[in-house]
Amino acid sequence: MNIDEHLEEISSKLAKRVDTKSCFACGTCVAACPVSRLIGSETYHPRRVVKATLEGEATTLLEEPALWLCTSCHACLEHCPQKVPVSELIKDLQNLASSMGITPDDIVAEVENILATGWALAPSDQANKKRTELGLPPIPLDDRGSKDLQTIAKATALLERLEKVKQRKVQEAQVAAAAEEGGEV
Ligand code: SF4
Ligand code: SF4
Repeated sequence: MNIDEHLEEISSKLAKRVDTKSCFACGTCVAACPVSRLIGSETYHPRRVVKATLEGEATTLLEEPALWLCTSCHACLEHCPQKVPVSELIKDLQNLASSMGITPDDIVAEVENILATGWALAPSDQANKKRTELGLPPIPLDDRGSKDLQTIAKATALLERLEKVKQRKVQEAQVAAAAEEGGEV
């Protein structure tokens, strides 16, 4: 299945859950969304994601860094009068984007930390130093858990996906370097 077919599948799944007319005149999810409130609805607007998906215009969303700002808090779903699964939709779009090699660096770093240590944010030397000062033992790294996670990552092709994300970044850097070189000539 190619990207367009995936988007079509996501869109028809969503269409079964939404009364378009009242959704497009609503906006409750935007008011409930902590990310929209924090950074502004002009940058992050859950209803726009729903609308673009239903209107077959979600391709550009896959390239937008804002897609990754969702905290999966599900406030949108809880407040939505139609119970539209906005957070689920955003997760589907993120999955699709990452299958194309599009994933922000901080998310990749977080996933790699989890696989290596069992922690999303591995305990820093600074944190352990502070703990020692307080008479506490260092925070243990979850070696057994991370080994299990690596097995799961291998079985679910997560490692391949991480590799794809890295390859895309290398290609993007090469294109940018070539463009810069071309500009200087
Ligand atoms: S709260 Fe629900 S119905 Fe209202 S705009 Fe958001 S998704 Fe649409
Ligand atoms: S799940 Fe995402 S889109 Fe929904 S309210 Fe939370 S941050 Fe906003």
